[in-house]
Amino acid sequence: MPFEPIKLDIEPRPDWWKVRPDEIVDICKSVKRGKAEIIAETPAGFPVYAVFYGDFSEPAPQTNWSAGSSSSSYTSYDPRGTGSPQTFLFLAGIHGAEAESVCAAVNLIQMLESGSDFRGKSSPELLDLIAQYRFIIIPCANMDGRAISPDHLRKVSHEDFRHASQGTWLNGDIIGWQGSKEHFPLPLDQVKYPGGYPNSAGFNIMHDACPGNIRTAEAKGILQLCERWRVDAVLNGHSCEFPPSIIPPTLLLYPAYQERGAKIAAEFLRRAYEEKFRPDLPETPVVPRGATFNLNTMMMFASGAFPLTLECCVSGNYTFDELMEPNYLALEVFLADGLQKPFCNRAEIFKGTV
Ligand SMILES: [Zn+2]
Repeated sequence: MPFEPIKLDIEPRPDWWKVRPDEIVDICKSVKRGKAEIIAETPAGFPVYAVFYGDFSEPAPQTNWSAGSSSSSYTSYDPRGTGSPQTFLFLAGIHGAEAESVCAAVNLIQMLESGSDFRGKSSPELLDLIAQYRFIIIPCANMDGRAISPDHLRKVSHEDFRHASQGTWLNGDIIGWQGSKEHFPLPLDQVKYPGGYPNSAGFNIMHDACPGNIRTAEAKGILQLCERWRVDAVLNGHSCEFPPSIIPPTLLLYPAYQERGAKIAAEFLRRAYEEKFRPDLPETPVVPRGATFNLNTMMMFASGAFPLTLECCVSGNYTFDELMEPNYLALEVFLADGLQKPFCNRAEIFKGTV
């Protein structure tokens, strides 16, 4: 590990806020009702786990999604038929400093294994929704970033938040959210601290999205998992300094996903406001915007998956429970929507009607 963990003056976490790499590994190793598998090894040598719930016994696809979605039948990629359970991926911790989704994923695994999370709380609604899917949890994609990040960033200053997240150059300047994206990888010899954003080789896994030149084992593992298990939808868990929201889909998703993603994002805002995870309900309607692309787009190319990114809040005056729980809420909203109508209608994609 080339960089030491950052030291911030933060309050002690509650016992159930389990987000350290050894705690993530422990919960994955303890899984009995599901099945845990290592899908990648990070540059610093940590395992990246995926935990599977449901029937994952079918043979590998005979074709990939690009070819299958252009073939005479989408069933060449997914022969399971429209009546089979959809496959949902909850992808947490792509950015290591953003601990909220990791905390939720670890607690959700505990809930799926024992009936209640590490707080002793249960969510029957969420468990019932999950039971209607094949459900995969990647509790922490960026174990390297997590290993050098604080347990949480609750009530830290804006400067400390930025330092912990995207790091600081040797001259003391903050690298910043967009500044960090001017390099791929981040030149580690020029930084005092890289932040928990990239892995230990400096790569921001969320932007490891160049066809033919995927650089990280973490992104490769995630994309291969999507392809192998025909993932239909992904909730990609992040955090920032603002109240929780689902990011509007970009214009580079399938048109049906743009429209539906905006609808789900709006429904999440409404529910988050109603349940007091947000102080306000924005009046501006949620619409697809921007044409940027990233690992979400790649996951769509890998399996046809419908991806959405959740941004939780890392700080503010939220309690620890309120920092984590929007992840449960986003899953509820997203999973409930998929029961109204399948996320990834592969037959429609084949016909070009989405
Ligand atoms: Zn993030």
